[in-house]
Amino acid sequence: MTENISDQWDAILIGGGPAGASAAAVLSEHGRKVLVLEREKFPRYHVGESLIPFTYAPLERLGMISKLRQSAFLKKYSVQFVSPSGSASQPFYFFTRYDRETIAQTWQVLRSEFDQLNLDNAREKGATVLEETRVTELLKEGEAVVGVRAELRDGTQREFRAPITLDCSGKEAFSTVRQGWRTKDPYLNKVAVWTYYKGSKREPDIAEGATTVAFVPEKGWFWHIPQHDDMVSVGVVAEGKYLTRGGVKSPKDIFHREVTQNAWIQDHLSTGQQVGDYYLTNEYSFHSKHCGSQGLLLVGDAFAFLDPVFSSGLMLALKSGVMAGDAVHAALAAGDVSPERFTDYANTLREGIENMRKLVYAFYNPNFSFRQVTDKYPHLGADITDCLSGDVNKDFSRLWDAIREWAPIPDDLPIGQPLVSREAAVAAQ
Ligand SMILES: Cc1cc2nc3c(=O)[nH]c(=O)nc-3n(C[C@H](O)[C@H](O)[C@H](O)COP(=O)(O)OP(=O)(O)OC[C@H]3O[C@@H](n4cnc5c(N)ncnc54)[C@H](O)[C@@H]3O)c2cc1C
Repeated sequence: MTENISDQWDAILIGGGPAGASAAAVLSEHGRKVLVLEREKFPRYHVGESLIPFTYAPLERLGMISKLRQSAFLKKYSVQFVSPSGSASQPFYFFTRYDRETIAQTWQVLRSEFDQLNLDNAREKGATVLEETRVTELLKEGEAVVGVRAELRDGTQREFRAPITLDCSGKEAFSTVRQGWRTKDPYLNKVAVWTYYKGSKREPDIAEGATTVAFVPEKGWFWHIPQHDDMVSVGVVAEGKYLTRGGVKSPKDIFHREVTQNAWIQDHLSTGQQVGDYYLTNEYSFHSKHCGSQGLLLVGDAFAFLDPVFSSGLMLALKSGVMAGDAVHAALAAGDVSPERFTDYANTLREGIENMRKLVYAFYNPNFSFRQVTDKYPHLGADITDCLSGDVNKDFSRLWDAIREWAPIPDDLPIGQPLVSREAAVAAQ
């Protein structure tokens, strides 16, 4: 079968997760001939299950809203915060600020199903997808990336060529690592440990699908994300030193000790049955020094991965996929895929990432709470809601100025621009 597959494409995508599937769908809609190379056989497991309101626009652009409405995914209308003693804040309902029929209702998804839907959507629009196909190398001519080498399901090696390759390989960041561009966030280096429960307690009525962020000491926090089929995804995020205190090392032991640190989590899980594995991930937030170079563009987590406390990852992956699809189509149409063409793409993404990152920094500062800010500056409540909901491409400077009274706000990282080739830089002088 695969021997009939062409060697030459308009664009090659490494990875068929949300970033890859959305970029492939948009490029295919533009009539581009795209090849998605995905290492796994879908449906495959993936963490990251809670959407935020402003995921709506990319999902709508992709034609995914009606598919999600028909799915079994639990509807999410709100978030709430819970103190270690177990007292819960009033849930924040998104429809108090956004349109109830569109942006204000989002979903808690099972990623195996959600990612399959997205990848099938790309296929329906014309993308060719090869699963169980691992990209092993970027092909280069001089400084330019001209395609990839991949190992197919049967173990054979193939080379595929295109004027542009989109790296959508997720947190592993295939080419980001190989190009030496991976930059750790100076502060956000947490550890996450998580598992799943069936049959645990749920909130009533429309709060059933709420995300709960429940605190443990030292600015650690649990996510509690209810899913369909009576499942819940539950995990704890904190400094590694805190989680492994007293020499506790196994994910299972870490998880169960932390459950005792939050009365609400303990109570909600008490009626449920733990299901499946315990997972752990560290080496948390990172950013790529460049968004791409000649023939290469980074999309989704491969460009930047941000601490998941505000569930921004899928919004950023889908949004960057859609933006990359449009930008790459325009570049191909102009017959010019030089890196400079992706400057706006980089600036828009970095602006959104930096705004979210500032709020994440504040969140982890022991002197900060949202309540303090809104008590003193009630008019800034809307800014906080917008940023938390994923409406991240706007000017939040008055919010950062206010938050600085309690917590330092980091400067923007001076990174993310496309790497312009040496020849182009010399020619421009
Ligand atoms: C603990 C944790 C909790 C999270 N919680 C949330 C949340 O609640 N909400 C949220 O929005 N986000 C959350 N996220 C973030 C979210 O998971 C990611 O932002 C999202 O999956 C990014 O999508 P992507 O398409 O960029 O990457 P991925 O979804 O990781 O997809 C990348 C794909 O590339 C494939 N691939 C990798 N290397 C190769 C290769 N060499 N060849 C071929 N294929 C390859 C992989 O198999 C994979 O299918 C969380 C992340 C973590 C770690």
